[in-house]
Amino acid sequence: MQRFLIKDTAKHIGEKVRVCGWVNVRRVHGKILFIDLRDISGVLQVVFVPSNKEAYDLAQALRPEWVVEITGQIVKRPENMVNPKIETGQVELSVESLKVLSESETLPLSIEGDGYDIGEETRMKYRYLDLRRERLKNNLVVRHKVIKFVRDFLDKEGFAEIETPILTKSTPEGARDYIVPSRQDPGKFYALPQSPQQYKQLLMVAGLEKYFQVAKCLRDEDPRGDRQPEFTQLDMEMSFVEQEDVMELIERLLILLVQSLFPNKKIQEIPFPRINYKDAMAEYKTDRPDIRKDKNDKDLLAFCWVVDFPFFEKNDEGGWTFTHNPFSAAKPEFEKDLMAKKNIENILTTQYDIVLNGFEIGGGSIRNHRPEALEKVFEIMGYKKEVIREKFGHMLDAFKYGAPPHGGIAWGLDRVLTLLLNEPNIREVIAFPKTGDGRDFMMQAPSEVDKKQLKELHIKIEKK
Ligand code: ASP
Repeated sequence: MQRFLIKDTAKHIGEKVRVCGWVNVRRVHGKILFIDLRDISGVLQVVFVPSNKEAYDLAQALRPEWVVEITGQIVKRPENMVNPKIETGQVELSVESLKVLSESETLPLSIEGDGYDIGEETRMKYRYLDLRRERLKNNLVVRHKVIKFVRDFLDKEGFAEIETPILTKSTPEGARDYIVPSRQDPGKFYALPQSPQQYKQLLMVAGLEKYFQVAKCLRDEDPRGDRQPEFTQLDMEMSFVEQEDVMELIERLLILLVQSLFPNKKIQEIPFPRINYKDAMAEYKTDRPDIRKDKNDKDLLAFCWVVDFPFFEKNDEGGWTFTHNPFSAAKPEFEKDLMAKKNIENILTTQYDIVLNGFEIGGGSIRNHRPEALEKVFEIMGYKKEVIREKFGHMLDAFKYGAPPHGGIAWGLDRVLTLLLNEPNIREVIAFPKTGDGRDFMMQAPSEVDKKQLKELHIKIEKK
């Protein structure tokens, strides 16, 4: 007999069905035994009566979180037992047979309620149980819907989703790289990507024209605020575009996404206001201004763009470094200054950041597609010719063979979801996040490895 999802049972009054799921709660009323059965789709009241002795006796043993399979008839509930709050509130299952598929020990944490008050260590160690919680299951399903929406939208716009490597070479994106030792090449290392930046630009050189990817990005940063060592970007790149084209596309996508999947949310202003960096700093003292007119309204979304960022800033050693992305182009009116390495502090970049309710949710830029211009950026940053060659030779070479003008953007998917779902931090929208200090309490990572593995990798650990 075919399995019914619980949410569908209400439409089948009088029919015999088979359902599977977890025992949510078990209650006894006089001689009658009730359980609430839960599956991915909902909760169903199940009734065991003494006249069905076999099932009734077996049901005495049921405890919360046991996994069962039940067949029976869907019947209307007595009037006084109707529960208007749930989809199946009009019906219940009158049991014919019960099969226990799996037993459960008492859970180490409660999965009722929102769970915010349970210690992080417990929630993370038993994440697979924490995820049984309604709120978190819903967050993951919404995450899926958002990704699917973006995929469908971009597909219609002519984008191709293309995967890029996880084992790659260090890129200068401002954070520390995670590195992976090479067994074949002792003393050499791969780096895990901080973003697919260089690959997506090389795909433009390859003539793909419109790329996107749901991309894992890895950055070995000190624990600070609400960060994860690995996070997901919706990463895009386009050829033959200007700043305006990228911003228009993203704005259209975000508006449509909110209207389609989050109809309760109100976007404060369309088109999204644009603020230049200087004004943002003067007026809001931040380049991530929270421009909400009513900060108490949890359904208000105040998007804005921040543009006209300085390209370079002084680093701790007194030299120049990039503020956002070394691959960005200068704004056209500053191209001459960049090429002459003059007026450096005033050069503005084509960088555009998208900000939502005071959080930067994404950013991108038009890139330098001419090798001379890219080389100048690295020279301004004080890199020697050999270093530029060694680190970026592949980009400079690629740009010699007909690189189209191109630009792109990436959003932090986890952050966008956190804001749309009114969650307090990004861990609530990631299936298996790490703790604030980068640990995985469930898998116990990071962990030591066998001596043999280290030997193969030519690595000796210096114990302090
Ligand atoms: N790769 C950039 C980042 O991770 C985004 C971009 O410029 O497309 O911030």
